[in-house]
Amino acid sequence: MVELPKSIKNLIAAFERLPGIGPKSASRLVFYLLNTPESYVAEMARSLLAIKKEIKICKTCFSVCEGEICSICDDSERNKKIICVVERAIDVMAIENIGGYKGVYHVLGGVVNPLEHVGPDDLKIDELVKRVEEIVTDGEIEIILATNPTMEGEATALYIKKRLESLSDKNIKISRIGSGLPMGADLEYADQATLSRAMDGRREI
Ligand SMILES: [Zn+2]
Repeated sequence: MVELPKSIKNLIAAFERLPGIGPKSASRLVFYLLNTPESYVAEMARSLLAIKKEIKICKTCFSVCEGEICSICDDSERNKKIICVVERAIDVMAIENIGGYKGVYHVLGGVVNPLEHVGPDDLKIDELVKRVEEIVTDGEIEIILATNPTMEGEATALYIKKRLESLSDKNIKISRIGSGLPMGADLEYADQATLSRAMDGRREI
């Protein structure tokens, strides 16, 4: 087998670390880039660095943004008393894409997963409880638990429910997104109609 130049091997290895990219796809991408104009590759490299340099985490909801606060938290039209709790910022995009949701979000940064040594303290759960405590004093609020319908997602939703119940405030309505999503599904990959049904079909738990 022919030995590839080091820079090609390094880039293939870098692509292989991306989710959903195997060795074959990684090689295909690298050889594709070898044949594209340098200006395209330079622009891509700048964009890659920019997501690390310019993107910040919203201080309120922990989604991605360019300033201190994301555009959703900053939007006065949004109902700050409906908080949709999701695993990752990409889930915010998925729900935003279906349109119609007028509340705000809270990005946990993952789910409780003992096998991967992720406990509740590694997620933004304390921050959620604090956020709820701060707003619950002026009227009813709804927390929509929209973690993925996986074992870890369900366990995380139940854990958050217990934590919020310990606030023992009657003004907190806790709901879980509907069963339209198949078990083991990922919000990120759900089609818009299914996700829309899951949001509309949320039930109080
Ligand atoms: Zn935000």
